[in-house]
Amino acid sequence: ADTARIAVVTGANKGIGREIARQLAERGLTVYLGARDEQRGRAAADALRAEGHDVRFLHLDVTDETSVARAAGRLQEESGVLHVLVNNAGIGGPMQPPSETPAEQVRAVYETNVFGAITVTNALLPLLRKAPSARIVNVSSAIGSLSAAAANHDPTGVHPPGQFPVMLSYATSKSALNAVTLAYANELRGTGILVNAASPGFVATDINGHHGQLTTEQGAHIPVLLATLDDDGPTARFLGEDGTPEG
Ligand code: NDP
Repeated sequence: ADTARIAVVTGANKGIGREIARQLAERGLTVYLGARDEQRGRAAADALRAEGHDVRFLHLDVTDETSVARAAGRLQEESGVLHVLVNNAGIGGPMQPPSETPAEQVRAVYETNVFGAITVTNALLPLLRKAPSARIVNVSSAIGSLSAAAANHDPTGVHPPGQFPVMLSYATSKSALNAVTLAYANELRGTGILVNAASPGFVATDINGHHGQLTTEQGAHIPVLLATLDDDGPTARFLGEDGTPEG
């Protein structure tokens, strides 16, 4: 019998990550639902299992090297292979001008949004390399678009024309994540591992006090599409919520 493909989604106890986990499981993947909090993670995994999906709680704090190493060790033992990694875990940052933002605050956001994705990717790459083909999806943001920032244009349409959101930590963390995505994609060209970034769109979740206009179902759409690309699919792309490339 075919064995199911295996996926890891980080920060999947709620929001877009939880919905990505659900949609991947709906497509028949075995999903390891990553969460830093055991209670929240188990509750989310239990709820998805009650819907009939093969979803397993995976304790994973992306900022904690020990936690990431343990998670990788467990996957190595249980499956020995990984087909899909979705780096979704992320935190927001204050709306605050760069001139008033201490570097320490920026570092804290990068710790999760950038260094966390790097730590998890490096820990799980040996397992991804064992799959005949694999996908890495980094959940980024339109706010990370350098071309939007250069045009001083808010890609989310929340702010008036000529007002790119003034938020140093979060916006530049996602620009960095996009650059990180390209670096991995280029290293892994020809290995069968496709690496892409997705902007989910402005989705109503805790990260924005539920001010987003899209549902988590809509927000999960492009990340799931990139996680389930065919072997001849693209690598090194940053796709917007409508599936078109962003800058
Ligand atoms: P939520 O706040 O609902 O979810 C964020 C998730 O990340 C939570 O599960 C949270 O866990 C988890 N997380 C945070 N820090 C860590 C950590 N150190 N280790 C593991 N998990 C962690 O927000 P969203 O669902 O909206 O965000 C998901 C992704 O989508 C983020 O990367 C975000 O930047 C991105 N995004 C969201 C947009 C939107 O409009 N909502 C727009 C563009 C991008 P916990 O419950 O423990 O805090």
